[in-house]
Amino acid sequence: MRIDEILAKKRTLSFEVFPPKKGAEERDKILSVIDALKAFSPDFISVTYGAGGSNSKNTVEIADYIQNTAKCNALAHITGGPSTPEQVRSVADALRERGIENVLCLRGDRPVGYEAEYCRYFAHASDLAQFLAPYRFTLGAACYPEGHTECESLYADLVNMKKKEEAGAKFFITQLFYDNSYYYRLVGEARRIGITAPIIPGIMPLVNPKNIRRIKEMCGSAIPLEFRNMIEIYASRPAVMEEIGYNYAVYQIIDLIAKGAPGIHLYVMNNVKTAQAICSRIGRVLHELF
Ligand code: FAD
Repeated sequence: MRIDEILAKKRTLSFEVFPPKKGAEERDKILSVIDALKAFSPDFISVTYGAGGSNSKNTVEIADYIQNTAKCNALAHITGGPSTPEQVRSVADALRERGIENVLCLRGDRPVGYEAEYCRYFAHASDLAQFLAPYRFTLGAACYPEGHTECESLYADLVNMKKKEEAGAKFFITQLFYDNSYYYRLVGEARRIGITAPIIPGIMPLVNPKNIRRIKEMCGSAIPLEFRNMIEIYASRPAVMEEIGYNYAVYQIIDLIAKGAPGIHLYVMNNVKTAQAICSRIGRVLHELF
């Protein structure tokens, strides 16, 4: 089913996984992760696409499994940055042949030691969305509550977000964040400049203090002081840290739902424990409000 149609009817719960990089063993593990995620009745499961474009076949294969074996709606990511039009056509054809209706259009992260070749054909996610228009997928795109790390201002980033909607994006999924006020600001400003598509918040529980720096470097996401204090005090107590991280994510989710978020996208990244920890804590919320 098309994600925009689901969003028109109900609040969505979704998970994000990444495809295997190599080997049948890794592949089988991911398929069993998908089977386990299905137990939480997600409205869709998204599968990432390598920034280098190298594992596009794996993205198609995993999306196929989600859609046709697990019988859940698949959202296949495609990154235009590293791709040629022929490569995108081949992935789009393969997705269509497998009955996959939803695609998340992305540019992809610039590889370290940026080469001029990157983004040669699809400079931005909006170029990819335009290119994919004839395929009639339901297109989604990424957005950034704290602004994209490369963008000079939040306003410039919002204008670019609008270009993605104009190019065909019917919904957005946000970058992970730990301070909900950035999400509310993004939604308010987006509506003010005329963006109408649903904006699904992306949540990634932070349970490992070692990830703080990585999150800051990769996504620019700020960690609120109270949360940071708790993390630092209990950094050497992994079991306590897990409780703190999951409960903080639950707090974020309930606040987001109470203020009208159209769904929750959990970055579970192939870790069923993350889905289990969150969904078991908010079982009744999921039952009554999704
Ligand atoms: P763009 O929309 O092209 O934006 C990149 C920068 O260009 C921004 O600063 C933006 O303001 C600016 N910009 C955008 N459009 C225009 C325009 N038309 N004119 C001028 N400037 C413009 N990465 C992967 O490699 N694989 C994945 O599967 C993946 N999945 C993701 C899923 C989500 C939900 C999110 C939030 C991110 C994901 N990423 C993934 C990371 C993403 O690729 C990076 O954040 C990347 O740096 C930007 O991608 P984008 O699609 O937002 O790019």
